[in-house]
Amino acid sequence: MNFYLIIILAIILGSYLLELFVERLNLRNLKTELPEEFTGYYDQARYKKSQEYLIENTRFSLINSSITTPVTIAFILLGGFNLVDRFARGYNLDAIPTGLVFTGALLLASQLLELPFSIYDTFVIEEKFGFNRTTPKTFILDILKSWLLTGLIGGLALYGIIWFFESSGKWAWLYCWIAVTAFQLLLTFLAPVIIMPLFNKYTPLKKEDLREEIENYAKSESFKMKGVYQMDGSRRSTKSNAFFSGFGRFRRIVLFDTLIEKHTTSELVSVLAHEMGHYKKGHIWKSMILSFLTFGFMFYILSLFINNRQLFSAFRMEETSVYASLVFFGFLYGPIDTVLSIFANAFSRRNEYEADSFAVKTYGNPAAMIEALKKLTVDNLSNLTPHPVKVFLSYSHPPVLERIRAIRGMSCSDEQ
Ligand SMILES: [Zn+2]
Repeated sequence: MNFYLIIILAIILGSYLLELFVERLNLRNLKTELPEEFTGYYDQARYKKSQEYLIENTRFSLINSSITTPVTIAFILLGGFNLVDRFARGYNLDAIPTGLVFTGALLLASQLLELPFSIYDTFVIEEKFGFNRTTPKTFILDILKSWLLTGLIGGLALYGIIWFFESSGKWAWLYCWIAVTAFQLLLTFLAPVIIMPLFNKYTPLKKEDLREEIENYAKSESFKMKGVYQMDGSRRSTKSNAFFSGFGRFRRIVLFDTLIEKHTTSELVSVLAHEMGHYKKGHIWKSMILSFLTFGFMFYILSLFINNRQLFSAFRMEETSVYASLVFFGFLYGPIDTVLSIFANAFSRRNEYEADSFAVKTYGNPAAMIEALKKLTVDNLSNLTPHPVKVFLSYSHPPVLERIRAIRGMSCSDEQ
């Protein structure tokens, strides 16, 4: 049996088993008793509902993996990739357009496989727990728009990557890295202006007093920004959030309308102070550099596997190509990605504590920060007691009880 085939099957099965193991731990960690911190925020019935939400979501994602895993393995073993390659080559195009057809066909197939799951998630699970506000029309338009965008942006990026690896020899990975980095930077500037308005409406914040309070706080921290906006998040879900987009003077604060609805002015300013903390503490550019370094590393390893005959025969391919190398490399990169994301998540969790601390110190209202965190948790039915292994592997934010404890600890030591 082919060495690469063994490795790849082990990777696919291993990550499936890891998911089963972690989710089981996570479910077993559900405490039936409401943590004291949340007394008065949850009654027994609603707390139970939050746990049922977790159970249902977990079961759903395990069913999803239990179907996609064997389908993927069967597709590999039965030579599915070679069939798609023959189909793409059938058009007798050059290497790059053939690669776009090959990758596009695979992507479309996987999207179609995911579609029933996505429908069930939105219209059955989210609906059942009272979150869903997406109409079938919005749902369909969202899919079409995101396919179009993926085709355009992904197609352009893929075009460049294949072109470099076809034509620029051993330094191709370096050129790819530079080009993709530049492209990503361009996208972060363009996204708030061109892409995000395709999905949501952004309007200047209507609530006068809230805007003033935010602007005053931003000024006191000499935080430059372009404005405060609200977004019609309620078009899709009752869940709420807030974020920044853009850079430097072009930064805008965006609040979901659902967030504004449910929180007081001082809670909202606390949430934004936290977001500003991410900029002030340098988290934004640090994570960008981290992701650029990861990309460089990935392109370098990728370059070692381009047109690797053994790898191609693992996938039962008749002919080698740069474009199929990219897809096959994706399978090998999985475990490396898992390890890297553990570090990235740990870094991100540390930044969350730092941003909380920034918000509390500068705005001086720990009670409002804690209140905002509790309301967000209850409104989104987030898990209060995730298993530490789950947190270690995949949480980009610390569990809410730990954040609250850290904030309390901070405000106590300030008083002394
Ligand atoms: Zn944050």
